[in-house]
Amino acid sequence: MATLRRILTISIPPYHVMSMKNNARSMSFHKLKIALRSFWRSDKDAPVYGHICQVGDPVLRTQAMPVEPEIICTKDFQALLGHLKDVMKWYNAVGLAAPQIGLPWQIFAVEVTKSHLKSIPKEMRDAQGMEEIPFQVFINPTLRVTDYTVLRLPERCESIRGYSADVPRSKEVEVTALTEKGKSITWIAKGWSARIVQHEYDHLQGRVFTDIMDPKTFNCTAWNAINGCRGRIELKYIPK
Ligand SMILES: [Zn+2]
Repeated sequence: MATLRRILTISIPPYHVMSMKNNARSMSFHKLKIALRSFWRSDKDAPVYGHICQVGDPVLRTQAMPVEPEIICTKDFQALLGHLKDVMKWYNAVGLAAPQIGLPWQIFAVEVTKSHLKSIPKEMRDAQGMEEIPFQVFINPTLRVTDYTVLRLPERCESIRGYSADVPRSKEVEVTALTEKGKSITWIAKGWSARIVQHEYDHLQGRVFTDIMDPKTFNCTAWNAINGCRGRIELKYIPK
């Protein structure tokens, strides 16, 4: 880490300045490399974050930029992917998109572990077609709906922490992307896996689940506990 910090000395402007000055499709490999080198900058208020940013942050409403494939195998980019994975593990999330840690680039990761599944009642797992997904990074993903059947099921997002809602999603999608090694991958995701992929893909388009949710099902996940302790409860924006 110390070595990385020594190597990565060039700073980038905040993402909102980047998005105004640099059109996503015209950003050169050179500029992208410079931007990447900043990611371990010492300024703790600047992206890339070690926490997950919350709705209201303009980065969550930005169309994410494509990643130049040439940069994927560089040490700096691999370190960035490692960081995304670390944050995702820390939050015990089943998916995380780069904009959620302040970086408006077209990258997301998904992983559903045995431990995730164990924490969910069997009836719910079966009803929603939940299955294990090995950790996988998707870079510059494109999505194609392969089954237009719409399922309306509860969803949460670490960027809208403390709330849930029923969200309509297509039952099956095909996602094509580059992997963390820069290889092309195509995956047909079904059921809950398809839901996770669509949720993360939406983050790269500047969308969050509240944009398409059934508004009447929008719930504070702690509403009952809040009554139980007469409002004396705190919502933390990092894991316990
Ligand atoms: Zn989310």
